[in-house]
Amino acid sequence: MRRVSREEAARATTPPGPYEWDDYRCEHGVNQIDDEIDEIVADPTLTMYEVELRLAEVGALVDRAEHGELSPLKEHKPVNVDPEIWEIRFTFGSQPFRIYYAEPQDFPKLLLGLKAHFKDVTGSEAQIRMRQNQQMSKAANRYHAGRTREWLGDPRLVGHSCHAKCVDP
Ligand SMILES: [Zn+2]
Repeated sequence: MRRVSREEAARATTPPGPYEWDDYRCEHGVNQIDDEIDEIVADPTLTMYEVELRLAEVGALVDRAEHGELSPLKEHKPVNVDPEIWEIRFTFGSQPFRIYYAEPQDFPKLLLGLKAHFKDVTGSEAQIRMRQNQQMSKAANRYHAGRTREWLGDPRLVGHSCHAKCVDP
C-alpha cells in the first residue's frame, strides 16, 4: 500500500470539510493571533480600501482552509517542529506572510490558529531560516502550553492581565 504523505493527509487541503477555524487564546483569554493578523494592516500608507482588501483576503483564505481548498505546497506546507502544525503562506505585495496553525488529532474538525507574522527576508539564508524556526517554535509552544485547557483561557485567570511570556511564550 502506498504511504500517504503528510501533505496529502492535511485537513486544509482535503475538501470538502467543513472544518472550523478557531484561534488560540492565552491563559487570560486573550486572542493574540488576532493582533498579529492586524499587522497586515498596520502600515500607515495603506488606504482604507487597501485595508479592507487585505482583511478580506485573509478571511477568504481561512474560509478556503475550512473547506479543505488550500493548494498543497503553494499555499500550505508542513513544518518541521511538530507533526500537527502547518504553515499557510501568502504574500501582500512583495511581503510574505505566514500563519501557523494546528490540526489537533483529538479534534477532527478543528483548525487552530496559533501565530501569524510577516516573514523577515533580510539577511543571509541561514538568518532567515533561523528567524523562521523561532516563529514556528513559538507557535508550537502555544500549541503545547494550551492543550490541557483546550486552547481557551483558564477560567480562574480570564480577565487578569497578561505577562510578557503570554504575548510571546
Ligand atoms: Zn495572557
